[in-house]
This record gives sequence, structure tokens and C-alpha cells, in this order.
Amino acid sequence: MINIFKRLPLPLKLILIGLVPSLFLVYLSLQFYLFEKQKYNLSKENIEVIDRSTMINRLIDQLQEERRFAYEYALKKEGYPELLAQQHYTDTVITHLEKDSDLKGFENYTLLDGLAAIRKKSNAHKMTAGDVMNYYTTAIFRISMLEVTPQLQIANARLLNRELHSARSMSQIITYLGILRSNIYNVLYTRQFKYGNGTLQGLSGVYMVFSTYQVEFKEKSPGDAVRDYKHIIENEAKPTMDYLTKSFKTMQFDSTTYTDTQWWKLSGDAVEQLRSEQTRIWNTINQQLNAIKNNVHRNEAILLVLLVLALAICIAIISGTIISITRILTGLRVAAEKIAIGEPGLNLGIESDDVVGKLARSVALIDANNQLLAEAADEIRKGNFDVVVTPRGASDVLGNSILQMKNELHRNAEEKAEQESELQRLLTAVKASESHFRQIADQTPFMIWQFNNRGKAVYVNKQWIDFTGLSFEESLGSGWVKALHPDGIKEGNFIKSFAGLRPFRSKSRFKNVNGEFRWVLVQANPIFNNNKFEGFIGSLTDITDQILAQQALVDLMDKKDEFLTIASHELKTPLTSIKAYTQLLQKSIDQNDKAYSLAVKNLHHVGRLEKLVNDLLDVSRINSGQMVYKKESLNIKDLLEQSVDGFMDVSKHRVSIINAEAVSINGDRSRIEQVFNNLLNNAAKYSPDADRIVVNSYVKDGYVVISVQDFGIGIDDKDKGMLFQKFYRTQKDFYKFQGLGLGLFISGEIVARHDGELWVESVPGKGSTFYFKLPRE
Ligand code: ADP
Repeated sequence: MINIFKRLPLPLKLILIGLVPSLFLVYLSLQFYLFEKQKYNLSKENIEVIDRSTMINRLIDQLQEERRFAYEYALKKEGYPELLAQQHYTDTVITHLEKDSDLKGFENYTLLDGLAAIRKKSNAHKMTAGDVMNYYTTAIFRISMLEVTPQLQIANARLLNRELHSARSMSQIITYLGILRSNIYNVLYTRQFKYGNGTLQGLSGVYMVFSTYQVEFKEKSPGDAVRDYKHIIENEAKPTMDYLTKSFKTMQFDSTTYTDTQWWKLSGDAVEQLRSEQTRIWNTINQQLNAIKNNVHRNEAILLVLLVLALAICIAIISGTIISITRILTGLRVAAEKIAIGEPGLNLGIESDDVVGKLARSVALIDANNQLLAEAADEIRKGNFDVVVTPRGASDVLGNSILQMKNELHRNAEEKAEQESELQRLLTAVKASESHFRQIADQTPFMIWQFNNRGKAVYVNKQWIDFTGLSFEESLGSGWVKALHPDGIKEGNFIKSFAGLRPFRSKSRFKNVNGEFRWVLVQANPIFNNNKFEGFIGSLTDITDQILAQQALVDLMDKKDEFLTIASHELKTPLTSIKAYTQLLQKSIDQNDKAYSLAVKNLHHVGRLEKLVNDLLDVSRINSGQMVYKKESLNIKDLLEQSVDGFMDVSKHRVSIINAEAVSINGDRSRIEQVFNNLLNNAAKYSPDADRIVVNSYVKDGYVVISVQDFGIGIDDKDKGMLFQKFYRTQKDFYKFQGLGLGLFISGEIVARHDGELWVESVPGKGSTFYFKLPRE
């Protein structure tokens, strides 16, 4: 519940705070109003009681009249129409009283329930006058008991209460006087004076009560009522009162003073006078009651207006307070928001000295301090470190931070100034070093370039300027491109090389000062500073002469190849003839003849010459791309074993085959044999001091690998890469071993044409192993 209240917005909270007392006020007002209303109802009830009393009195009157007519009818059998008319009047009043909810069923307990039966009997003249008198008198007496004197519970009703009391007493006086009057009339009418004493004895109680009501009336009634009453008693009612006093004093009826009719008239006047006084009293009461009623009504209206007014004022005050608090707090919120975003210069305009006013002043103080600090910070920003910053205390975090910041910035500024002078000094040193570098660079025999990381030339040396005829400034940026050959520009090699951030070499043509394009070797390296690429530095060397020399060499080599091709072709035919004639000569000479051994020697030399010519022819075929391969399925095991057998017939070396895989390859038998025989011949030739050669063959990764190992002179590392080039021969024992340096070149070519590879492993002085591999079928 408390949490829900906490989460409510402030205006709602204030409304609730205002609403609770307002509702309480409304409740109290309502209670007060209802209380007043109740008072009014009370007086209304009182008026009803008075009305009821009046009606009861009227009923008593009517019954008394009816009693008289019924009595006369019973005695004299006269006045029947009057009796019936009176009965009708009596019924009218009874019907009226019956409507009163408080008197519902009153006939049952006031003997009136027997009225109809009595009337029936008396109208039929079947009742004695005494019975008629008794019934009516008893009924009237009982009905008079219904009267209640109301006591008003309202202010200033004392007089009214006295009036009410006197009306009640008057009513009793009239009732009792009526009883006495009727009984006396009865005696006078019947003239039964001898029973007069008994009658008076019977009525003496009634007379005593009648007298006490008279005394009570005089004691308790207001002055004017007493005065009126006394006046009646002493004037109009005097004969009646005197007669009664005398009769009850002597306890005898004076039959001479009044006839029955005179008495009825006389006493009737007295009753009439008293009744008119009673009516006057009732009127006074009614007037006063109406006045009270009106007063209550007016008070009620005024009260209602006052209540509404008070409520409105109350709500207005509460609403005004809520609005003013909300407005002040909104102002403070806006101010706090401005402070939060660092906007100075608040205008809160709150002058009250309450907690809100104090809060506003605190906020304004924060703003003023912020402004001071902001101005100080601005001065510090401008570099004015002399500005005074005074924190508000040890806990003023912002003030202390700005002070600390000022001190640190001051120190930093000083350090920066020091660093700047140091930097200046370093810059001067760098400039000196740069000019030194340029002097050196200008003295070097080749051209030098420097490019920045965007590919723009930032430096060229004197040699470049001399070579191209472009000035230093002309060469900077992309100006150097003016000297580049159009083909070089088209190829865009420099741009690609620069983008690679790697060292690069290229041969390019540049136009020299005479307008002549020269070949230049460009070598450049990227420059990194703390791993950050900063550009390239490169040298350019004019290599036109070298290139021309190389070209001449190539031409010469081509001519050599041409010569060798022609020579070997030309030699081939006479050599074949020489070989055939020598063989014929050998066959025609006796073996013991000296010429026979010469012929054998001649054949041996012709064989070597033939191999030489064949090798040269192979080279010329390879060069012209005319080497023809007749490929077929070959069993490597058979090929190796047959070749080794043939080799062993003519060689002193013993060849052992460690392993020979019986796998097939697709190849030209004579060419593969040529490769293998060449390797065996070399192994024997370059291991003159050894007597064995090891051959191995195995399958690996889909290839058959064949190796030939000797234990001879071996090969230096520097020679290994060159061995497979045309005419290459190692310098080692160059003249000791015969040869042209073509065997490995031709072998390499043949293996390559079979999608294979040829390589060597060797330890100088220990021997060499030549390998070649061919894809297995
Ligand atoms: P050559 O006819 O000169 O032997 P090759 O092309 O067969 O021509 O060999 C080229 C050169 O490789 C040889 O001159 C020799 O120096 C070197 N060479 C070849 N085989 C061997 C080997 N088994 N041991 C040492 N050196 C060798």
C-alpha cells in the first residue's frame, strides 16, 4: 500500500492528501445537516401530536354531543333526526382519526368497537338513559386518556411547552366539565333529586380531578392563558362553576335554581367559552410552531449554503495549495534538469521561507556555484591558469576535481611546452640529418626514389634528375611517371607492386634526358615505422648495357645450337659409313693380325662419337620440339633387370638391385632405358674407386620411384641446381672425366615428358643418389 502511494505522481499524492480531509469535512457537514434535519422532523412530529390532540378533542366533543342526543332520545324519544346527524359527524371524526398511523385500531381499546352495537340498541329505543350515559361517559373518559402532551426538544421552546401543557390541562378541564354537566343534566331532567346525594357522591371523584386540572392550569399555563381562564371563570362560566361548587359543597341538588334546559344552556356556554380559549391556545401554539418550523427551514437553508460555501473554500484552498506546490516543484524540477544538462542561469523566483523556499535557495546556490565553476573551467580552457578556484569544502567533489584538473592541466601545459621545445630541437636535428642523407644519396652512383604511403614520390636524388632531366619538383607526386615508358604505364606494375607492401624488383624502361628509353632495374623496399607502413624507398640502375650483352650471348648460344645441329646431322651419315666399313674391315682381317686390334679400337671410338652425335641430335630435337615418344605399357621390373644385365656385361661395377617393384608405367621403352642407362653410366663414371652400384625401385603416392646410388666423388650443393642444364659440367675433375654435360639435360627432359621428376641427393666425397619418378599405370 505504502509502495503504491510512493509510486503515485506528486499531483495525485497532493490531491489524495487534500481529498481525505475534504471527504471528512463533507461527511461531518452531512452529519451536521442531518442532525439539524432531524430536529426539524422532531418538530414536525410534535405538530402531528398536537394535530392528533386536537382531533381527539374534537372526537370527545362529538361524542359528548352524541351522548346528549342519545340520552334525550332514550328519555323522551325525541330528536331522532338530530341524533342520526350527530352520529354521522362523530363517524367523520373517527374515520379521520383512523387514518393516523399511530392510532390504528384505537377503537378496540377505547370501547368505540361497541359503539355500533350501542347505537343499534339506543336507536331502537331499547336502552335506558342511564346505560346510554354510562357508555358514552366511560368511552369519552377512556378516549381522553389518548391525549399526550408533546414535549418539544428544540431551542426556545419553553414557552411553547407551557402552552402545550395548558392546552392539555384545558382539554381535561373541558372533558371533566362535560362529564359533570351531563350527569347534572340527567338529574335535573329526571328530577330524581332524592338520588341526588348518591349521584354527587359518585361524581365527587370526577369533580376533584376537575378541580385539580383547574389548579394545574393556573399554576403551569402562561400568564395570558391564566388571565383569560380567570376571566371566563369569573364571567361567562361563573354561574356554572358556582352551581357546581354549591352542589358538591352541600352534596345536594338545588332544583329551584335551574331547569334542566337552563343548566344545559348555561353549562354549554361555559364549555363553549373554555373551548374557544382552548382554540386560542392551540392557535398560539400553531403559530409558534410554524414560526419554529420556518426558522428551522431558514436555518437549514442557511446551513446548507454555509456548508457548501465552507466546502468550496476548503477545496479552493486545498486545490490552490496543490497547484502552488506542484508549480514550485515543477520549477525546481526544471531547474534541476537545467543543472543536470549543465545549463546555468536559473530564475526560480521563490521567496517563501518554508522548506520549499529553502530548497529553491539551495538549488539557486548550486546554480551560482556551477556558474562560478563553469566560468573558471572556461578560463582554464583558454589557458588562464591564474583563475581562482575555491572548492566549497572537502566534500565538494566537482570543485575539488576542477581545482585538481586546473593543477594537472597547468602541469601538462608546462610539460607540453617542454616537449615542444624538445620536439623543435629534434626536428632541427632531423632536418640536419635529412640534408646529410640527401648529400649521401646524391653521391651514390644509382638513382634513388622515396614514396609516401599514398604512392606519391616525396624524394628523388640528383642521379635521377640528371638521368631524366626532370627537376626535383617535377618528379614529386606522380610527376616521375612522365619518364616512364608508355608500356610501363599501361601495365601498371608499379601501382600493383606498391599495393603489395612487399619488396619488389622490376625491369622497366625510362626515358633519359636525350629522349632515349633505357632499361632500368628498379628495386624497392617498404618502410615501416612501429609496424606502420610509411611508403617505399627504391633504387634505379641503368642495366641497358647488361641486357644488350645478355641478348648478344643468347644470340650466340642460338647460333651454337644451330651449328651443333647442322654439324651432328652432317656427321651422322659419314659416321654410319665409317662404322659399317670398319666392321667390314674387322671381319676381313685375321684376329691375330695387328690391324685387327686397331679396327676394334677404331670401332670403340666410333661408338663414343656416335653417342656424342646422338646426344647432340637429341638436344636439337628437344630445342625444336621434335622429340617423338612412342608410349606403351612397360614393366619397370623387367626393364631395370634387362638394362642392369646389359650394363654388367661391359662394366667392372657390380650392380645390386635391392628391390624392383613389378609395376607398369606408360612410356617410351628406349627413352626410359636411355634415362636409366645414363644414370648407371654416370654412377660408374663418377665412382672410379668404387666397385658397386645400388639400384632401388618402390611405389609411393601413385608413382614408381627409381634410384641409382653410387659411392663416388659426390656433388657439391652449389652444383645440384645446375646439373640438369645443357652443357653443364661441374668443375671438379673437369678434365678427368669425359663428357659434354648433355646426359642429365636430355634425361630430365624425357622424364618431364612422362609427367615425372628427376632429382639428386649427394654427399661430396661419399657418393650420389639420382632419383626419377614416373606415374604408375
Ligand atoms: P657428362 O657427360 O659430363 O657426364 P651429364 O649431363 O651426364 O654429362 O652430367 C653432367 C655433370 O654432372 C657431369 O659433368 C658431372 O660433373 C656431374 N655428374 C653426373 N653424374 C654424377 C655422379 N654420379 N657423380 C658425380 N658427379 C656426377
